[in-house]
Amino acid sequence: MLLIVATPIGNLEDITLRALNVLREADFIIAENPLHTAKLLKHFEIPKKELIQFADHNEQKVLPKLLDKLKSGSGALVSDAGTPGISDPGFRLVRACVEQKIKVESIPGASATITALVASGLPTDKFLFVGFLPKTEPKLLQVLGQAILTASTLVIYESPQRILKTVLAIAKHHPTAQVVVARELTKLHEEFIRGNATEVAEQLSKKTSIKGEIVLLASFK
Ligand code: SAM
Repeated sequence: MLLIVATPIGNLEDITLRALNVLREADFIIAENPLHTAKLLKHFEIPKKELIQFADHNEQKVLPKLLDKLKSGSGALVSDAGTPGISDPGFRLVRACVEQKIKVESIPGASATITALVASGLPTDKFLFVGFLPKTEPKLLQVLGQAILTASTLVIYESPQRILKTVLAIAKHHPTAQVVVARELTKLHEEFIRGNATEVAEQLSKKTSIKGEIVLLASFK
């Protein structure tokens, strides 16, 4: 059986009682980064157990072994932060489990997408999550076009190095789009920058440095 376990995206209090129980009781843990997960387990005083890495670079290699183990035991899948499978490894393992009729359960919890969306102040009735953006401007424009066409709030995972460039590109083509930069969610330096694309680009360009993890949201309504 595969148990997909969400873990905090910053604030360690954002882990559910169920997630802790599952991590305690699972036969083994499948982790994007075992060292990172070992620290989380230590923090919550969860006894050490077998940690198997499942990351982009070794997915193909470990998949058969994992499927064998999941047929006879319970494995908890975690990523470095948030919900596994959302711009994180997991999807192919879940798909293979479904194909092989291995039971899959989802233990819900934090995800940067939903955390940012609900606090953005932008419409939440329809949203288009695209994960990390394509790097070229024409592809970015395609994504913006899809959000406009479907009247959806666009939700993007963006890096601190690229955020200004991306907001400037949105401002160039859609200056009145409402934009929110949600940075360091649930952490000490959590920050929301809200305004139209031009205003947000101005605010970002005044900063001497931009650090941390970012969700960028845009609404074209
Ligand atoms: N699976 C994770 C989830 O459910 O949120 C997302 C993993 S993805 C590899 C990591 C990206 O999520 C970061 O680059 C950033 O864009 C966003 N992110 C994760 N934690 C965040 C936080 N605390 N504040 C803002 N963005 C965050």
